[in-house]
Amino acid sequence: MTPADLVIRSPRTVLPEGERPAAVSVRDGRIAAILPYETPASVDLGDVALLPGLVDTHVHVNEPGRTEWEGFATATRAAAAGGVTTLIDMPLNSLPPTVDPAALAAKRAAAEGACAVDVGFWGGAVPGNASALRPLHDLGVFGFKCFTSDSGVPEFPPLAPDEMKTAFREIASFGGLVIVHAEDPASLAPPSGGDYAAFLASRPPSAERRAVERVVQLAEETGVRAHILHLSAADCLDVLAKAQAGGLPVTAETCPHYLTLCDGDAGTAAFKCCPPIRDAANRDRLWQGLASGVISCVVTDHSPCTPDLKRGDFATAWGGISSLQLGLPAVWTAARARGHDLASVVRWMSQAPAALAAVPGKGGIVPGNDADLVAFAPEETFSVDPASLHHRHPVTPYEGRTLTGVVRATWLRGVRIADTPTGRLLTRSEPR
Ligand SMILES: [Zn+2]
Repeated sequence: MTPADLVIRSPRTVLPEGERPAAVSVRDGRIAAILPYETPASVDLGDVALLPGLVDTHVHVNEPGRTEWEGFATATRAAAAGGVTTLIDMPLNSLPPTVDPAALAAKRAAAEGACAVDVGFWGGAVPGNASALRPLHDLGVFGFKCFTSDSGVPEFPPLAPDEMKTAFREIASFGGLVIVHAEDPASLAPPSGGDYAAFLASRPPSAERRAVERVVQLAEETGVRAHILHLSAADCLDVLAKAQAGGLPVTAETCPHYLTLCDGDAGTAAFKCCPPIRDAANRDRLWQGLASGVISCVVTDHSPCTPDLKRGDFATAWGGISSLQLGLPAVWTAARARGHDLASVVRWMSQAPAALAAVPGKGGIVPGNDADLVAFAPEETFSVDPASLHHRHPVTPYEGRTLTGVVRATWLRGVRIADTPTGRLLTRSEPR
C-alpha cells in the first residue's frame, strides 16, 4: 500500500457514530482510513475539532444573469471560509433559470473553473416544462424545485395545484426528488405596513401548514419523494411527523436564521426572508423538531441581492438572507447553548443534506468518501464583522453578534483550499 498523502489528527474528530479522538488518513483525495489518535500525523490539530465538510443544499448563486447579486467565485469563497465544501445551487434568481438543458449548460459554463468548493445544481419545475424534467434528471441535476406561491422573480412562476400533480407524477416516474417552497398563496396577503409586525402577519403559519398538507397529499397520491424547503412555521411539524410515521418519503429542512433569530431581533430588512423569522416560542419548537428528527437538515438558503434592494422597508425589500459563511458558527452557538453536541450539528449540516440529495462521496468522514475536511475551533468566539465576509455583498443580520466556533482551515479532496479554485461540478449520477 502506498503511504498516505496526509494524516490529520484531532481529539475531537466527528465521525458518523460520534465524536472521538482519531487520525484520518487521506490518499488520492479520498479518506483512506480512520486510524488511532496516536498515529503519527502530518497535521496535528491540537484541541481543534475535525469535521467533514458541510453540504449546503440550499444556495442561490444567481450567476449567470444576476451576478451582481452573487456569483460562483464569491459564493464558493464564502462557503470555503464557512466550512462548506459542497453546495447545490438553486435554479432561480439566475437568468436563465435552470428549467431546461440549455439553461443547465449556461449554469455549468458560468461555474466552470470559478468554484473554490464543489458545486451541483437543482433543476426547476415551472408551468409548462414537464417534458424538460427527465432530460435534466439524466444530465445529473439533484432534483427539482417548485413554488406553491410567488417566487419573487417573474421568470420562475409557481405551479398551480394541477400543475404540481403533473410535475410530481413525472418526477416520481424516474425516481426523482422534488423540493418545495411551501406557502399557500391564498393564505398570504400584501403587508399592511412597512414594519416587521405587518410583514410577519402577512405570511402566517397557516400559509405554510396548508401548503405542507398539500405537498404531503400529493406525495401520497403520486409516490414522489418530496422535501419541504426552509421550514419556518413549527405548526407544520405534526403534519410532517404524521406523514413520516405513515412511511411517506417526505423530509424537511430549516435554516440557521429560523433557529437563531426571532421576530424581536428584526430591526432592518437584512432580517427579511420568506417564509419569515417568527417568535421565540416557534423557534423553540423548531429545535424540538430537529431533536426528534422530523426536520433532518439545516441549510442556509443563502439568497443575496444588491444592497440597494435590501435598503427598503419590510414591505418592499428583497426577501433573502446571506449566511453561507456564517451558518456553522450561528447554528453551533445556539445548538451548544441548548445542549446539542457537535456531532448533531454535523448530522444536520453535512450528513443529512448529502443523503437528501444523494451527493456521491460527501457528508461524512468515512473511508472512500472525498477528503473534504474542516478544522473547527469549537470553543473560540468572534464578533461578526461584515468586512470579513466573502459574500459579494456583506449584508448580514448577524452583524455585531458574538458567535462561537471558528473555521480554521478547509480541505477539498485532501488539498487545503487556497486562492486557486479547484472545485468540481457535481452530478447526481457521477461514477466513483
Ligand atoms: Zn431559497
